Amino acid sequence: MSRTVFTLLLGLMVSATVTAAPSWGVEVHDRLAVPSGAPTKAVAITLDACGGAFDASLIETLIDLRVPATIFVTKKWLDRNPAGTAMLLAHPDLFELEDHGTSHVPAVIGTGRRVYGIAAEPDAAHLEEEVSGAAQAIRSLTGRAPVFFRGATAIYDAQSMQIIRSMGYQVAGFSVNADAGATLSEAQISARLRAVQPGDIVIAHMNKPAGSTAEAFAATLPSLLAKGYRFVTLSGGRLQPA
Ligand SMILES: [Zn+2]
Repeated sequence: MSRTVFTLLLGLMVSATVTAAPSWGVEVHDRLAVPSGAPTKAVAITLDACGGAFDASLIETLIDLRVPATIFVTKKWLDRNPAGTAMLLAHPDLFELEDHGTSHVPAVIGTGRRVYGIAAEPDAAHLEEEVSGAAQAIRSLTGRAPVFFRGATAIYDAQSMQIIRSMGYQVAGFSVNADAGATLSEAQISARLRAVQPGDIVIAHMNKPAGSTAEAFAATLPSLLAKGYRFVTLSGGRLQPA
């Protein structure tokens, strides 16, 4: 990131907004707050590492192109993927590790509630453990405490949002769902990436190498760079409601 872009981004505002999901839940949508008239085309790539495997090809593309990304890791993913973890840690200038939970349990509270088929947390104490377990793992690996949290499924309820924020975290939303959980085709993901606008926060997945996410990023990022887009991590910018 150039010093100019970095300086501009330091002046941005923070907040988060919500839009409808389940009747009791919300999906947080954010964009980077880019000052009007600022000569920057900043976009943030966020990659979730929910569980499962390591998409080395996707990360290698980002390394080759010197494109930074904010990586939302679970403790479960870190424990299962030591080689992937080592590759991320070898590039602290590019990859910022943030909190995606300990065991990838949705950050909603209520026995019997399910999000996309995954059972919710039974109570507040379990949610706090979900947030703090991954944070401790990240801090012990990097020496840096995460400042952003994104729950599994990116759905929250009012109580869970309040708890997460009271623990000192910003809930990290997004504005472009690039790969729908790594289920989309390369052409579909590429189309969504080509359509990004300055200030967008992109979400994609780096835990499903059998998907087409890596291929789409490799095919699309060079043209975005050629168009003047510059990629930033979330802590290098500020969030505002999308
Ligand atoms: Zn996830």
